[in-house]
Amino acid sequence: MTNCFILLAAGKGKRFKSNNPKQFTNYINKPLFMHSVDKAIKSRLFKSIIIVSNIPIKNIRDKSIKVIKGGRERYQSSQKALNFIKNKKFSNVFIHDAARPNFSIKLLKRLNTNLKKNKAVVPYVTTDNSTKYKIENKIKNLKRENLLFTQTPQCFNFKALFNLSKLNNTKISDEATLFLDNKKKIKFIKGEENNFKITTKSDLEKINIQNFYGIGFDIHRLIKNKILYLGGMKVPFHSGLKGHSDGDVIIHAIIDGLLGAMRKKDIGTLFPSNKKIFKNIRSPNMLSPILKKMDEEGYFINNLDINLICERPKVSKYRKKIVNSLSNLLNVNKDQINLKGKTVEKLGLIGKEEAIACEVIVSLKHYV
Ligand code: ZN
Repeated sequence: MTNCFILLAAGKGKRFKSNNPKQFTNYINKPLFMHSVDKAIKSRLFKSIIIVSNIPIKNIRDKSIKVIKGGRERYQSSQKALNFIKNKKFSNVFIHDAARPNFSIKLLKRLNTNLKKNKAVVPYVTTDNSTKYKIENKIKNLKRENLLFTQTPQCFNFKALFNLSKLNNTKISDEATLFLDNKKKIKFIKGEENNFKITTKSDLEKINIQNFYGIGFDIHRLIKNKILYLGGMKVPFHSGLKGHSDGDVIIHAIIDGLLGAMRKKDIGTLFPSNKKIFKNIRSPNMLSPILKKMDEEGYFINNLDINLICERPKVSKYRKKIVNSLSNLLNVNKDQINLKGKTVEKLGLIGKEEAIACEVIVSLKHYV
């Protein structure tokens, strides 16, 4: 079963009142539409991602992502994208409005699970407001319990949606409308309150952001005949760091900092040194389950401040490379990482080049 993710980012967003359409505005450290793209990638549910945009998008290096031009109306952009992939043999397609950047990867996974037995799965939320509706200038009561507010991402069997969509030539606000109008079955699942649509500038401030901080410290002894790994990269040196793993003090301290900020105990609890399976494990592999947890729970790295404590190797010589390596491993910008070198006046084990230590403070943002 192969899935394609279509991101509709061609809207003009008149109510947003800006020259830059809202889906390209900066929102929580990146262009708004990129939040959806990054989540689609991280979910690993999609073979291909199609971004429909009327503005050229540069700097997309991922080969699974294609940018195509949209239409004037939302339904036309959606049709163009479905046409674009019609011969690509996708079983399913997810359609999402770029103006909803705050859905969770968990929601994507629930949609996907429900798609196994259904041809259309659509998330919805309810309302707490008392509800009325107007018909022929008369206002009547409506039972709020019966109201469903549909969101995106919505997902469909590709053929079923393609066949309905190609016949449509009227404005619709979502693909669920097509299924309902044609009396086709939809499986409705619970959506997310946070997955609101960003329509006006004040919506950008709507989400509640909390900051969390974590501290990490690590020290390993230096021994001969071992490769020195720092920040996930090999550093030429007379010795390497002794340990159950590759002894990468920088990554270990970062892991403890991240766990600290998420209030999830410590590295030793997750990777007990008496467990054989973790013997000689490379530290980037220890980092990946932590980053996955962060994604799933809505944490983002704000910044990292690192003190590498050693007489040699000279940090200034490797700073750029280590920061680059960490930026790739952590999927954050280089300017969110600071690496400082600290010597110890030749004192103690570290001073005699028999050990290297590292301390880290991380700051995480959490969206709730
Ligand atoms: Zn360690």
